[in-house]
Amino acid sequence: MVGGDPRRGPARSLTMRAHLAHATILCALVTSACGAEPAVATDTATATAPPGDTATSAPPDTATGDDGAADVGERDGDAAPAVAIVGARLLGAPGVADGGVAVLVLEGGVIARVGGDVPAGAEVVDLSGRFVVPAFIDSHVHLLYRPEAAEMLSGGVGGAVDMAAPVRIFDPAAVDFGALEVVAAGPMVTALGGYPTQSWGRDGYGLEVPNAEAGRAAVAKLAGLGARFIKVPFQGEAQLSDEIAAAVIDEAHLRGLRVAVHALGDADAARAGRLGADILAHTPVEPLQPATLDLWAGKTVVSTLGAFGGADSTVANLRALRERGATVLYGTDFGNTTVAGVDPRELTLLSRAGLDGAAVLAAGTTAPATFWGFADLGALAPGKAATFMVLRDDPRVVPSTLSSPASVWVRGLATGGGVGAGGSRGGRGG
Ligand SMILES: [Zn+2]
Repeated sequence: MVGGDPRRGPARSLTMRAHLAHATILCALVTSACGAEPAVATDTATATAPPGDTATSAPPDTATGDDGAADVGERDGDAAPAVAIVGARLLGAPGVADGGVAVLVLEGGVIARVGGDVPAGAEVVDLSGRFVVPAFIDSHVHLLYRPEAAEMLSGGVGGAVDMAAPVRIFDPAAVDFGALEVVAAGPMVTALGGYPTQSWGRDGYGLEVPNAEAGRAAVAKLAGLGARFIKVPFQGEAQLSDEIAAAVIDEAHLRGLRVAVHALGDADAARAGRLGADILAHTPVEPLQPATLDLWAGKTVVSTLGAFGGADSTVANLRALRERGATVLYGTDFGNTTVAGVDPRELTLLSRAGLDGAAVLAAGTTAPATFWGFADLGALAPGKAATFMVLRDDPRVVPSTLSSPASVWVRGLATGGGVGAGGSRGGRGG
């Protein structure tokens, strides 16, 4: 498990999460001063809490009464009162028309209720005039290359998909992403001397396989370590042969894992598509031929339009893939790029590719939550993490507002937000 486990049942260990939320926020604010303690606490608490434990299975209402909070506090040692957010216009709240005003009740770091009245004893936060949307999910990052999970969180990113990292990313004792939920592939399965082992990914970012058997064994090893998908590069001179790549893809599919490919050229993207890969980890840069576009019709593409300079050909490729029914996921290649938080340039380029504000919002919230299985994210709904952005403008009309949130709430606690601004672009392109 890495960071928060998206597969974890959303309603479990509410009070544990309340405790965690405090530790996590302190980390988000203090950043580098925090060690591995919060992540270890998460993992331990979730793994060891007995299913019927009274503290962890207490219904949300227990904490709302005048003495209910004290009861929970005695059991847990740390319980925050319920928070009722009023006046905000909600987007992504099932049962509430987008842009409609409804009360958002937070308890123990999760969303307890949407709509209804303010619970007795709740702390009321008036966000009249603001828009509240679920935290973003960045579907292409490298968190061990650039370990800035806390900065991503305070910039409005609540979930991230790590698209290549050494195997230690699967070791909770070795990495600490705090409250950032992470889905990871581990190292790319690549050819001997293949991408990225001779460039930016020398130190364990590629798992080199000489033949089909080794390819299948690599997939088995990564699956056993906790990989949630497999990444294969189709780039450069040293590439997996069709036979080896097909074996890797087949083994992944046999294990229920999808395969993401790094393929920037038309021929490489076509070969990956023919061999049955599922996800373009980047929008290809070279103009895609109609036959290549057809191979990717109805599949999935992670945008990363800014990572390679935002060329017109890249933007046109994304537009064409989308016209063929491909699912577009917001992604930045953070690690190789440097904007922690929601990247304003990526938003602009998505708009240029034909995504309106609602589509941009979907590419960063509902679509990746469903696709990757981030059960705690993607909607303002009961049981989801209380991790969301407070925006000054309606993102359906002004998508750029997503990159400068008025505040960001992480597991029920507010931070300043608006971190996703600084930094120049690295542009290495992983
Ligand atoms: Zn990358």
